[in-house]
Amino acid sequence: MTEKRVIVVTGASRGIGRGIAVALAEPGCTVVVNYSTSPDAAQETAAAVEAKGGAPQLCRFDVSDPEATKEAFKEIAKTHNRVDVLVNNAGVARDNLLALMKAGEWDTVLNTNLKGAFLCSQAVVKMMMRQKYGRIINITSVVGVIGNAGQCNYAAAKAGIIGLTRSMARELISRNITVNAVAPGFIETDMTHKLPEKVKEELLSQIPAGRYGTPEEVAAAVKFLVSDQAGYITGQVIHVNGGMFMG
Ligand code: NAP
Repeated sequence: MTEKRVIVVTGASRGIGRGIAVALAEPGCTVVVNYSTSPDAAQETAAAVEAKGGAPQLCRFDVSDPEATKEAFKEIAKTHNRVDVLVNNAGVARDNLLALMKAGEWDTVLNTNLKGAFLCSQAVVKMMMRQKYGRIINITSVVGVIGNAGQCNYAAAKAGIIGLTRSMARELISRNITVNAVAPGFIETDMTHKLPEKVKEELLSQIPAGRYGTPEEVAAAVKFLVSDQAGYITGQVIHVNGGMFMG
């Protein structure tokens, strides 16, 4: 690993992505803070990265847009000449029951959460292969493993992330690139704030820890997986869920 790491976190303007960007920031490293619609929030993440001694770079692109993603990574490569860590975190939910789900709701969730991770990974992989070093972390969800009524699109995307992770891990470990997934349970962010009170109470009753998790607790697992100590760990799904699911 180089001392001056270049780290890219997608969807880093808010929530878990913000927590990850700040947790990975350390003196000398560059943290590319990707976002799509919230420049002010992204700016706040950048300030928090800077406060930890990291060099932030704001980078706006929609991870589901193949051309925009390719262009953004081309620019990152031109500026830094390397990417050491990619965290595929950007995600959205468009919940609905199967019988009512619109094709557009399916497409938005699959395109952002699953295709986005594929596009970003593909955009960095050649560089990581040349470097003979890389760490890729994909953010999946407990829902991708156990399912959730009203989230067929989201659960399918998150289950897909696990298959993507394991296939990439097998392809890339010979080049010293590890690929792992982190599966949060229910974490306090904008995504879960939007849920109706009744749903939140029901969810809470399923969490043995008796509380939601924090972005920082998810970020701690990511931080371990990108460390030198985790170099022999690949293709794994690390659950951070307060005991909600034990697999
Ligand atoms: P959040 O608070 O809603 O934040 C989502 C982030 O993703 C924002 O930074 C947003 O950027 C970005 N984003 C959305 N669409 C994007 C796109 N097309 N291109 C680039 N960036 C995009 O969500 P969160 O709860 O932190 O979730 C982060 C990840 O964790 C997601 O993959 C989610 O599925 C997963 N997860 C969350 C939970 C949970 O309980 N919260 C549990 C399991 C897994 P803008 O601000 O610019 O829109």
